[in-house]
Amino acid sequence: MSDRGAPLSVYVHVPFCTVKCAYCDFNSYANLEDEIPAWETALVEELRLWAAASAGRPVPTVFFGGGTPSLLEGEAVQRLMDQVRTRWPLDADAEVTLEANPESVSAERLLKYRAAGVNRISMGVQSLQPEELIFLDRIHSAERAQEAFRLLRDAGFENVSVDLIFGLPQQSLGSWQDTVERVLGWGPDHVSAYALIVEEGTPLASRVARGEVRPADADVVASMSEWTELRLERAGYRQYEISNYAREGHECRHNLAYWRHAEYVGVGPGAHGFVNGVRYAVERSPMRYAQLLAPGRPGSKIATPAAVSQETVDADTAAVDTFVMGLRLNAGIDVDAFVREFPVQWSRWEAVVEWATGVELTERSGGWLRLTPKGRRLADELFVRIMEPALIEDRPERA
Ligand code: SF4
Repeated sequence: MSDRGAPLSVYVHVPFCTVKCAYCDFNSYANLEDEIPAWETALVEELRLWAAASAGRPVPTVFFGGGTPSLLEGEAVQRLMDQVRTRWPLDADAEVTLEANPESVSAERLLKYRAAGVNRISMGVQSLQPEELIFLDRIHSAERAQEAFRLLRDAGFENVSVDLIFGLPQQSLGSWQDTVERVLGWGPDHVSAYALIVEEGTPLASRVARGEVRPADADVVASMSEWTELRLERAGYRQYEISNYAREGHECRHNLAYWRHAEYVGVGPGAHGFVNGVRYAVERSPMRYAQLLAPGRPGSKIATPAAVSQETVDADTAAVDTFVMGLRLNAGIDVDAFVREFPVQWSRWEAVVEWATGVELTERSGGWLRLTPKGRRLADELFVRIMEPALIEDRPERA
C-alpha cells in the first residue's frame, strides 16, 4: 500500500485562534497562546519521530494550517521549517503554504515567513460584508482584509489564495456577488469558495436548533454556487475541485496530494496523517498533546505516542478513498487506471455510477469519469451512496 520512496507531504496543525468563530468545528482554541512554546517543543519531537519512520522520502509540499498559523512569530516558522529541512529532503521547488487571517498579518512577520521558505499564503477572508463578518464572528473588517492582501503582495508573495464562504443565513445573491467582485479586483491567484455547513456541536448549530437562525435556502445556495463557477471561470480562474479555483499553475499542490490519495505526515493536535499505508489521528487537546510527546516517551514502528487512533489502509478503503477524493477533482477519475490499481473494486460501483450518470450527476468521456455541474452541487449525497457500506471517518483538517 505504501511506497517508501514516494513523495511525502507535511501538514502542521496550529490550533490557536484569537477568537473561536461560531461556525467552526476545526480543532482550534482561543486564549491558548501561552501554550505555543510547549506546542512547538512537542511538534519538533513529533517531526523527529515521523522522520525516523519515513527517512529519505522527498517532501514536495508543506502546509501550516489551523487554527490561525499567522499568530506564529516568524522565528517559530523558521525553526519549524529548519526541522523539516533537516529531517527530509525538501524539494527545491516545494510549495510551502501558511494559512493567515487578515488581523494577524504584519509586514515584518510576512517578511520573516518568506525568509523561512513560505511561498504561498492562504488568507481566510470569508466575506467583505460587515454584518456577515459579525455573524461569522470574524474579527477583521473588509478594509483590513484588503490592507492585509496588499501587505502580502508588498512582502513579495506571488501565490496568494483567498478563502470565502457563501450560503450564510439571509445572505442575498447580490451580497455574495459584491464580495466576490471586490476580491476579484484584488487579483488573487487562487480562490476557495465554500458553502457554509452547519456543523454539529458548534454554537451556530445550537442557534439553528433553538430557531434563532434559519439556514440559507437551498435554491439560493445553489444559485450562488452556479454563479460562482461561471464568474470565476470568466475571470480566468479554472475550477479544479468542487470548492477551489486557480489561475493557471496556481492550484494548491498540497491539497491535490490529499485528493490524489498521496501520503502525508500530519503533526500537531488534531491533525490526521497517512504514512506507510497507515492513517492516524493525533490527540486533539494541545495540553495533552504536549504531555504525550514529552522527551523520552517511546514511539512505535508505525506511529508516535500522540497518535490516538490508527488504521492500516486496506485495498478496499484505499479504493473508496481514491474514488471519492478523485471525483472531487474536475479532472475526475481515469477509469482504466483505477481498474488496473483496484481490479476487484470497480464492479462494486458500476451500478451507482450507471445510476449517477443516468441522473446526470456524473459523466464519462475519454475514459474519465467526472462530476457534472449538478453533481458538484449534490456531491455529498452522491459520495454517501458511493461509500456505503464503507465508512471513512478521518479527513485532513482545513481552516
Ligand atoms: S474559522 Fe478559522 S479563525 Fe475561526 S475559529 Fe476556526 S480556525 Fe479559527
